[in-house]
Amino acid sequence: MKILVLNCGSSSVKYQFMDIEKTYVLAKGMVSRIGMSGAMHAYKPHDRPEVTTTGEILDHIMAVEHVITMLLSPNHGVIKDKSEIDAVGHRVVHGGEAFPDSVLIDNDVMQVLRDCIELAPLHNPHNIRGITACFQLLPGIPQVAVFDTAFHLKMPPYAYIYGIPYVLYKRYGIRRYGFHGTSHFYVSRRAAKMMNRPIEELNIITCHLGNGASMSAVKGGISIDTSMGFTPLEGLLMGTRSGDLDPAIILHVMAREELSLNEANTMLNKHSGLQGISGISGDMRDIIKEADKGNTNSQLALDVYCYRIRKYIGSYAAVLGGLDALVFTAGIGENSPLVRKKCCENLDFLGIRVDDEKNNQAKGPQTDEIQTDDSKTKVFRVPTNEELVIALDTKRVVEEGMERKKMVKGV
Ligand code: ADP
Repeated sequence: MKILVLNCGSSSVKYQFMDIEKTYVLAKGMVSRIGMSGAMHAYKPHDRPEVTTTGEILDHIMAVEHVITMLLSPNHGVIKDKSEIDAVGHRVVHGGEAFPDSVLIDNDVMQVLRDCIELAPLHNPHNIRGITACFQLLPGIPQVAVFDTAFHLKMPPYAYIYGIPYVLYKRYGIRRYGFHGTSHFYVSRRAAKMMNRPIEELNIITCHLGNGASMSAVKGGISIDTSMGFTPLEGLLMGTRSGDLDPAIILHVMAREELSLNEANTMLNKHSGLQGISGISGDMRDIIKEADKGNTNSQLALDVYCYRIRKYIGSYAAVLGGLDALVFTAGIGENSPLVRKKCCENLDFLGIRVDDEKNNQAKGPQTDEIQTDDSKTKVFRVPTNEELVIALDTKRVVEEGMERKKMVKGV
């Protein structure tokens, strides 16, 4: 089965076209600057060099059209006909409480996705645009929504209810949802596989440290708590997002600086985090470089970043009632030995000991174990693969749909 995996953002479409039986990426790429000048499409077939094209790409329909054109191109393509695309899997950021699992998209599902826009106004509208584009351009080809929130929907109520009037949960769905679910799911399974033990008997903490960052406490394969909340703003310090803070600070700053709701939102999402503390950059590579040169605010940003992760490791070890494995993934988690080391400092009491040499050498596409031989808890560096999870889920949901159809016909 050949599956097109799409991740539609506000001005970009990232994609992978996979032969799922062979877990093989036939082609991948990204359309960027949609609706802006200098729109660009970088496309890489598996067996030929990358091709970059520029031109007018006004909306998501044109972007998806570009992708299909390249997949079919006589020179660069990997298929001869659209019908070779068996299904499309979409990353959808927010499924609210409606979708504890991936789902085949029909009109009813589209309506619920539209209802979820209020919960994720920055993400869901773009995901919906991508789905609409595929309905137009690939009619009759099944489409599946795979949600960032789904993996966390089994959290117990005491982990997802906030200490505000309960009626706000009932009225507006204000609760912890959590994000990066496909990544936490994937890397926790990889860790279990590496340990050669069933996930059902393991306590694992996963740290997804990219531009956005979140952690998850995974017990027996289920996410029982996670650091992002109602929105992706809560929890860890991130590139430009504040993460946890006293909610009264927002009210105080809005009053003192006479900020509008929009301005406060921008401050918390775009001008905070590593960027806010360092005043230099939200990119961890810059922060490490500047801290190395002796820049005190960059050093402080790095310290706050790692300290908060350590704090969450401690609290998640408590809610899990013990710890078998700690996993680092995403841009920073996969590529920064310094951050991994700092996050694991003084965690001997949890059985966590990092081997400096293994940690420094860990890189590349494979999973690495970076703990010392006498460390009771395993520490992994796992390159995440959200696209693979989306493709596998898409295959499962499409096949389940076909089975159901067969059964109905049989009846
Ligand atoms: P996104 O959330 O946008 O998918 P990524 O997972 O690609 O983000 O992570 C981006 C982050 O990873 C940036 O802060 C970047 O600086 C960081 N990063 C990438 N490579 C390194 C590295 N070698 N050392 C430290 N940080 C790195």
